[in-house]
This record gives sequence, C-alpha cells and structure tokens, in this order.
Amino acid sequence: MSVTQDVIAMVQEKDAGQPEFHQAVREVMESLEPTVKKHPEFVKNKIYERIVVPDRAIMFRVPWVDDSGEVQVNRGYRVQFSNAIGPYKGGLRLHPSVNLSIVKFLGFEQIFKNSLTTLPMGGGKGGSDFDPKGKSDMEVMRFCQAFMRELFRHIGPDTDVPAGDIGVGGREIGYMYGYYKKIANEHTSVLTGKSLEYGGSLIRPEATGYGAVFLAAEMLGTRNQNIQDKVVAVSASGNVAQYTVEKINQLGGKVITLSDSDGTVVDDAGVDEKKLEFVLDLKNVRRGRIKEYADEFKNVAYYAGKSVWDVIKEQGLKVDLAFPSAHENEIEGVHAEALIKNGCTLVCEGANMPSTVDAVGVYRENKVLFGPAKAANAGGVATSGLEMSQNSLRMLWPREEVEERLHQIMKSIHRNCLEAAEAYGTPGDYAAGANIAGFLKVANAMVAYGIV
Ligand code: NAP
Repeated sequence: MSVTQDVIAMVQEKDAGQPEFHQAVREVMESLEPTVKKHPEFVKNKIYERIVVPDRAIMFRVPWVDDSGEVQVNRGYRVQFSNAIGPYKGGLRLHPSVNLSIVKFLGFEQIFKNSLTTLPMGGGKGGSDFDPKGKSDMEVMRFCQAFMRELFRHIGPDTDVPAGDIGVGGREIGYMYGYYKKIANEHTSVLTGKSLEYGGSLIRPEATGYGAVFLAAEMLGTRNQNIQDKVVAVSASGNVAQYTVEKINQLGGKVITLSDSDGTVVDDAGVDEKKLEFVLDLKNVRRGRIKEYADEFKNVAYYAGKSVWDVIKEQGLKVDLAFPSAHENEIEGVHAEALIKNGCTLVCEGANMPSTVDAVGVYRENKVLFGPAKAANAGGVATSGLEMSQNSLRMLWPREEVEERLHQIMKSIHRNCLEAAEAYGTPGDYAAGANIAGFLKVANAMVAYGIV
C-alpha cells in the first residue's frame, strides 16, 4: 500500500470519531500521491506521517455569566497545526457545531491554503461551541473576554495570529483584541480582522468574497469567458457571501440567491447594490433573518428550511456559476448533479470544504471548473497577512493598493495551481494543484529543519 493510503488509515485509527478531519486528510493525501515517487526525501523524512499530526491541540474551559446571572460553560479550542513556514494563522469559529474534528479539519486545510497565498504563514484554527445567535452584545462581550482569558497565553504576533470565521466578525474581534491588549499590556498584531481605528486593513472584510470572484474570473478566462451577464447562485448571507455578491455585481454578473440556516431567498431580478446594502444592515447590524429580504422586496420567493442547493434541485433553478459560502458539506452529490443539469459550469468554494467527496466527483466527471476552498477563499487570510505587514510597518495602505495586492495574489494562486497540476500529471485539476503546490513548500521547509 502507498504511504498516502497508510497515512489515511493511520488517521482513521488514531483519530477516531473525527469524520471531518478524516475527510480533509483523505482529500489532500489522495492528491499528493504523485509527489511520493518524485520526492523520496519526503518519504524518508516521514513528512506525510508528520504533517497530519498538529504541533499541538489546546482545549480549554470557557466559563462566563449570562444576562440573567447564570453561569455558562463552553469548550474552547486552538489547534496549532504547523508553523513550518510562518507563525500559526487561521480563524476562530463560534458555532454550536464546533468540536475537535471541525477545528482540526480547518487547521489542516489552513496549512496548505496559507502556503498557497505566497505569504509566510503557518496553519492553525480555533473556536468554541458558543452560539452568538440570540445573545446580547454584553453576553457576547463576556464570552469573548472569557475565551481570551485562556487563549492569550498561547498566541502572539510572532507565534500565532488568529482571525475571524463563522460567528466571529468585527464585533467579536473588537472584544477579543480589547481584552488581549488589556491583559498583555501591548498593542501588537496578535489578531487580524481588526477595525481600521485600531490597526485593521482596508479590504479585509471584503477580501474572502472578492478573492473567490477574482479566482473564478481567472478560471473562466481559461475558457475565454468572464463574469459579465452570468447568473450566479451564492449561499449564506454572512461575510463571505456579502462581498462575493458585491464583486460579482461590479463585474456585471447577477446573483439570484442568498440564504441562512433558516432558509433561502430567490430573487430573479438580482441582489443589486441597494438590496445588498439592506443585507449588510440586516446581518451585520440588526442581526436578523434572511426571510426579511423576501418581506422587504417584491417578487422574491422564500423557501423555509431549504438550502440554496435544495432549491436549485427542487425548483430547477438555472444558474451559470455557484459560490457556496456557508459551511462544510453543504453541496452533496445530488445537488452537484442538479447544478450541472441546470447549466452550472463553475463552482468556486468561498466556504471551507462545502462540497462532499461525491459532489467533487460529479464536478470532475462533468468537467466543471472547480475552485477548491483552499485556493478560492485564500484571499481572506492573504489579506490578513497584509494586515500583519502593515502593522509591522506601522502603516495603512490605501484601499486600491490592498485590493491590487489581493488581486495579484489570487492570480498567482490560480497560476500555481495550474502549474503544479500540470507538473504532477493532473492537468487542469485545481483541487490537486492547490494541494500539491501548498504542500511542496511546507514539506521542503520540514525537510530543511531535520527531525523536530
Ligand atoms: P459568517 O459571517 O458567520 O456567516 C456564516 C453564514 O453561513 C451565515 O449566513 C450562516 O447562517 C450560514 N451558516 C453557517 N453555518 C450554517 C449551517 N450549519 N447551516 C446553514 N447555514 C449556516 O461566516 P463567514 O465568515 O462568511 O464564513 C462562511 C464560510 O466561509 C465558512 O466555511 C468559513 O470557514 C469560510 N471562510 C471565511 C473566511 C473569512 O474571512 N470570513 C475566510 C475563509 C473561509 P446563520 O446566520 O443562520 O447561521
């Protein structure tokens, strides 16, 4: 049996009960198979066996007091997966589904994604099973402070620099950074996604969504197409979804869907600039539900309890492009088949691992342009890297400069994926190319360090 298959089996045995982590390891290891023969030094140094074990996984208790005076206890996590090419870097997720498997899958993916950005960042991820939904601002603040009370001792501007993810936006980063600053008595780049007033970067909120659209535009370019006049399905209505819509609008496309965990809206007229403003206020300020979009605007259908992909399948909705931007495994094999039947030729993953293994198989069989998460949503962490650079320089770069750097990074990611895929015998396969290109840099660094 090949070393990559051995590693998959080893992870399944030793890390039992972590299905999302197994899925991520399998996906990466299978595409690394062509590297095994070309790099005996990786085999000799047991790089494949070593890269699937985090440097450390920290788990901790997060006790806090709710508005009624009752003590609440959550579980906190930070998995520092690999600092081979830079300080650990990756988001914090606050969602009831967070557990060790989810954080390990995200941290593992982050190693290769961060390597692909071309910036010097290692891989990590963290979070808690705390649910910010329905909590008051003061409850969110008390939780964030309690979370940072333990996390602060494990992070630092040259050690580990967390950012946002699901449930962690500007408000939560503000509370966490404020508390870190207080107890560490320092003002450093220990978190990214900060507000402009205290060290944030322009374009960081936009970066993941914009980056996904930049990558999609590059991919379409290989078939002499562009975003102009394309009909687009976007899932979710959070940070990634919002700025995916904005950039698609700027490039002349039309987004006809949005969703949240309660349901999906379909707006055949398109989510234009004015409607997007409503969504930003609804989700980032009023923290309401997407159903209110259907109440606010004419001729919008609302499908309670359905995902965007269920609606496409059940209603036969025609779309040219799809940007899943919610959560892992949201598109199953049957959804992928429905997408193709309804005319979709490109899937670009704003969310992390939103397509199941079956769905990816369907894309491959049907020659769909498939932008895997670690390439497609790398714009977010890349711009976090640019935020760190600006903090070190004590500078704030103008909006145009950051966006241009982001655009260039997404172009390099596109090129690197295609070149690696070509060099290792899977031409045109962005998923394989992303895994191989991301892995090679980290693996070479690990070999250089010796056995540490
Ligand atoms: P966010 O602002 O918190 O928004 C999350 C969105 O996804 C919300 O609309 C949420 O609906 C929906 N959602 C989350 N979990 C769901 C579930 N289990 N079922 C149905 N809907 C669900 O988060 P985000 O930052 O946009 O992150 C979205 C995805 O992008 C995640 O996979 C994240 O890891 C990935 N990502 C984010 C960044 C970044 O810079 N933010 C970077 C790279 C990758 P509700 O409000 O109803 O929960």
